[in-house]
Amino acid sequence: MADDGGLDLLVVGGGVTGAGIALDAVTRGLRTGLVEMQDWAAGTSSRSSRLVHGGLRYLYQLDLHLVSEALAERGLLLDTIAPHLVHAQPFLWPLRVPLIERGYSALGVGLYDLIARFHGGRVPIQRHYDKAGALGIFPDIRPGRLTGAIRFYDARVDDARLVIDLVRTAVSYGALAAPRTRVVDFVRQHGVVTGAVLHDLEADREITVRARHIINATGVWTEQTERLAGPTARGLRVLASKGVHIVVPKERIRGRTGLFLRTSTSVLFIIPWPDHWVIGTTDTAWTEQPETPVATAADIDYILDQANAVLRSRLTRDDILASYAGLRPLLQPLAATPGDSAKVSREHTVARIAPGLSAIAGGKLTTYRRMAEDAVDFALGPERTRAQPSITRRIQLVGAVGYEATRAQAGPVARRMGWDRHRTEHLLSRYGSELTTIADLIREDPGLGRPLTAAPTYLRAEAAFAVTHEGALHLADVLRRRVRLAYELPDGGCAALDEVGDIVAPLLGWDATTLEREKDRYRREAEAQRAASEAPDDATASALMAAAPAGAPAEAPAAE
Ligand SMILES: Cc1cc2nc3c(=O)[nH]c(=O)nc-3n(C[C@H](O)[C@H](O)[C@H](O)COP(=O)(O)OP(=O)(O)OC[C@H]3O[C@@H](n4cnc5c(N)ncnc54)[C@H](O)[C@@H]3O)c2cc1C
Repeated sequence: MADDGGLDLLVVGGGVTGAGIALDAVTRGLRTGLVEMQDWAAGTSSRSSRLVHGGLRYLYQLDLHLVSEALAERGLLLDTIAPHLVHAQPFLWPLRVPLIERGYSALGVGLYDLIARFHGGRVPIQRHYDKAGALGIFPDIRPGRLTGAIRFYDARVDDARLVIDLVRTAVSYGALAAPRTRVVDFVRQHGVVTGAVLHDLEADREITVRARHIINATGVWTEQTERLAGPTARGLRVLASKGVHIVVPKERIRGRTGLFLRTSTSVLFIIPWPDHWVIGTTDTAWTEQPETPVATAADIDYILDQANAVLRSRLTRDDILASYAGLRPLLQPLAATPGDSAKVSREHTVARIAPGLSAIAGGKLTTYRRMAEDAVDFALGPERTRAQPSITRRIQLVGAVGYEATRAQAGPVARRMGWDRHRTEHLLSRYGSELTTIADLIREDPGLGRPLTAAPTYLRAEAAFAVTHEGALHLADVLRRRVRLAYELPDGGCAALDEVGDIVAPLLGWDATTLEREKDRYRREAEAQRAASEAPDDATASALMAAAPAGAPAEAPAAE
């Protein structure tokens, strides 16, 4: 531990990478700080396809190392680290050419299953179907589009909840964590980075912290953060590649698994969630502000076209509940140009930027733990790593500790609370063993036991828990990253604003004026997002988003 009152390690960036690093570092005994300029996960880590996967398509690029690493992490997440949040998910892969396609696809999926087995993952292996069997599972596939199918397993996760649970777990072990706190400068002494100047965006004040080492884990902001270290800092180069998803209601597609579709340029996933489908994604270079990635009309039309080529009942714009866009932080090889981001490797790299400062970028949600381990090993150096190795393979996240027992004992709790099976499963799959905390909140305030009027899948207690236990400070934090109605209701979830506002206002100490300001800000941002989804190109869409008041401080582009 630093003996000067400072930190051993300061992590910049509260996405999945930074949150993972904070947990890794604090559980090795380092005095750890984590700062995030927006809300936790507000960058790329709340805008993914939400899959915990080895990446079947990387197998076809013969990237066995990446697939193996990711499948090992998938097994750990499913079995140990977050079994409440990470759920095994079957996908159907429709085949068009009878023998040859089935043959090589079976080989690929077989290898995928084998690697997963080797790492101890316990999801079922591939199963083959003829055309009738496949249509029995997924009646909405156009019959002319398949001759049969293979079912394989991956896993899905609520990405933002994973990050929030990582941060909460790190804090439970003693990490100091501050959202809406932006690193605006680095402190240097004789060429060594020894601390950072932080701007607390809630209180609008600056403080300086000392740290023996700083890790830049700022995703698509990596280069922007590196520039703070001065002109001599040698850094990683990161490309932003935009990926868009649309969300449609559950009843619009009849199918009991997800769909994995190979397109002419990439793959398309149709991913089932209990109450809706998530469909995506795209892969195009993004050169606008990193704070405002947004789906344009062209992105949405592309996804609809790809999905409708396979689905029997045609999806239209009217079916879309929401769309969202995220930016992949792709490491840029030296010769790369902005146009060829689809070819850049998803693997991660750790690099020294300046004495006292390193950076990590690339990778994916699935491999966050491995990235975190590598980043902390690099910061400590080989000798200290041997003395203080990573232990996160065995660290369970909040909600995972005691999860099996809570699940076994859920029946009597559910009966007392009047929850049916669907409700109990919903709560277990979001809160794990903290289901009992939700029950306690309701016992203290029975009104919280009612479902939200605009979204009866969720209890009012979940909006309260977002504030009391999950650190939400604004309506956008609740509706975008904790209860996530922004992604599941039309109009960005505005129908739930009044009720959620009334629940969280007393918990956050808001008076009537503050509550109205928060609601107004949220509505105007949702409206900008809707307008952007009709814009013809990224520049127009991004300008519409930048002109709207952000849902919360720092969610608009910061002046450089
Ligand atoms: C469309 C899409 C689909 C994807 N699907 C999957 C998937 O299904 N499975 C999978 O495994 N991976 C997936 N990925 C990849 C995965 O989402 C990303 O690799 C991962 O979320 C990146 O996390 P990160 O923490 O590195 O970056 P981010 O989540 O962007 O976090 C960086 C954070 O740094 C903060 N920050 C920036 N500057 C500062 C500063 N000066 N001070 C303080 N904070 C700062 C930002 O606000 C941001 O929150 C997908 C990515 C995209 C775009």
